[in-house]
Amino acid sequence: MADFRTHITASSAVGVGVGLLGYSTMGLTVEQSLLGGALCSIGGILPDLDSDSGIPIRETIALSAAVIPMMMIDRLRDFGLDRESLVLAGAVMYLVVRFGLAELFKRYTIHRGMWHSIPAAGIAALLIYLITDHDTSPVRLFKSASIAVGFLTHLILDEIWAIDFTHGLPRVKKSFGTALKFWTDRALWPNVSTYAKLILLTLFAFGDPSITEPIRIQRQELNRTASDYFQNWIQQSRLASQSTTNQDTTGESLQPETPTTVQPAVLR
Ligand SMILES: [Zn+2]
Repeated sequence: MADFRTHITASSAVGVGVGLLGYSTMGLTVEQSLLGGALCSIGGILPDLDSDSGIPIRETIALSAAVIPMMMIDRLRDFGLDRESLVLAGAVMYLVVRFGLAELFKRYTIHRGMWHSIPAAGIAALLIYLITDHDTSPVRLFKSASIAVGFLTHLILDEIWAIDFTHGLPRVKKSFGTALKFWTDRALWPNVSTYAKLILLTLFAFGDPSITEPIRIQRQELNRTASDYFQNWIQQSRLASQSTTNQDTTGESLQPETPTTVQPAVLR
């Protein structure tokens, strides 16, 4: 089995390629390409979340706890949270991932179970797709694909490490075939559970725009209405002060050139 350092080195190297590919062929910005590369790098350590102890789970959980709240900023903004609420939500999510996710993996996965599989790479990609921003844009797909590429890099590396070359001819170890797989022969339930999650998350991903788009439009309208109201108030105040100044200088009341009342913004 490849160790943590080998996995993160390999997925980071592949991440550099992913970033360059995104930059040169998809017209992404440097920052978006770098983020894709970083996600590929993180994807390369995710499968070992099913190890119950040691560096992999500790480092991966800590990194996920830091990265996930940041990736959810656009999502949280859609719900109209102010800056303070964003910080609080980020702190809560950090704790949930740091302790809740670690406990979930500890209780419900076994090493080289279905979390080490090709459908699990799809689950990780879909989760990233769902927690990032709402635009069905190439950038969003690029982020989730980057995680999947990193995840698959890990699985391929595990399989390569299951081939023993020490005695001349290659010999496969017992662990060969337990990483890059579509299903497990150990039991039926892990397969059912994995594919059920994959299908459910795929449905969420397809249904996502119809849920989040109305929330986003509503928030934009609220922001626009508030902005219009504020601008009207400033305009009215300015006209009122001009009127007072004219009265002071001429000693008589002058009608303002423009109407002092401004129609309030109409909700569309
Ligand atoms: Zn592994």
